Amino acid sequence: MISGSDYLQLLPKTELHCHFASTLTAPLFIELAAKYGVELWADNADELFAFDDLADFLVAFRAAHDVLREPDDFARVAREGVRHAVAAGNLRYREYFINPQYFAARGLSYADVIDPLIAGLRQAERDYGVGFRVVVAINRQESPESAVELVRQVVAHGAPEVVGIGQDDLTPEGTEDPTRFVAAYRLAREHGLKLTAHVGETDNATPDAVREAIEVLECDRLDHGYRIMDDPSLVRLALTRGIAFTATPVSTTICSGWVLDPSHRIRAMIDAGLKVTLSTDDALFFRTDLGREYREGLTLLGVDMDAAKQIAINGIDAAFCSEDEKARMRAEFTAQFLALDTLRVA
Ligand SMILES: [Zn+2]
Repeated sequence: MISGSDYLQLLPKTELHCHFASTLTAPLFIELAAKYGVELWADNADELFAFDDLADFLVAFRAAHDVLREPDDFARVAREGVRHAVAAGNLRYREYFINPQYFAARGLSYADVIDPLIAGLRQAERDYGVGFRVVVAINRQESPESAVELVRQVVAHGAPEVVGIGQDDLTPEGTEDPTRFVAAYRLAREHGLKLTAHVGETDNATPDAVREAIEVLECDRLDHGYRIMDDPSLVRLALTRGIAFTATPVSTTICSGWVLDPSHRIRAMIDAGLKVTLSTDDALFFRTDLGREYREGLTLLGVDMDAAKQIAINGIDAAFCSEDEKARMRAEFTAQFLALDTLRVA
């Protein structure tokens, strides 16, 4: 028999909200920083990633992109990141946010970033059976015009693994303001790309950003979106449209200052019947992994094992991959649930 904690650790999982640079492991991050002479603000993982708030984290997040400089770095991070996530939480499928604009200043083209990243993830898929897709994230520090140009690059490059666009970081004013990028979203939709956006995340965010992402940007799913619980009409709208949410419990304790307990908005979203999935967001920086999000996050939220299984299945339903791939994953997850349930402590 296994404990509830082991059961949650071993559940097969998808992850739909994960920033590629944050799939770096701490040893590889430190190794690459030394290789390129990037001075870090501390020399051990505990101090390196001891953040107090979202602003501190974003400074470190931007710095992390500085250690990815050669195409092989992307392939290596991709391979090692998948291996780590399989060991840490039985990852079976993952979608990655990547923004090639971060690397353009170092002379890396869109293809210089995307091609080795996909090659590394393909190798990891052969090694561990972990499927993947890529979502190009608009950095909200950049202009609306540059976001349109980024979507043009995605379309021109045409990699079938790149299936959508999202948006991350905050605007230069420190706001979410999702509709700033409406032209880029329209263009992406015209070309058949899927749409998502980070909204309703922080303590000063409003439900309005969630509404704008649904009604103006016409997003297929939303990242975070916790402020939806502040407006019951929005909950009804998301239920009607079948909008899924990529919730990240551990990061909310740092970026939003919220305590993980049954009064948390993520628990309220689950209880309201919203299609909630679980992710790490930035595993390296928040010192988390997918196993911990289920093991600690769901336990502290007071979610039971059957709800945990439903959350894992929600991650398949909300993925941006093909229906064939989803059907294969549902069968695999169902088989693993059967095997795990025989070991479950009553
Ligand atoms: Zn994120």
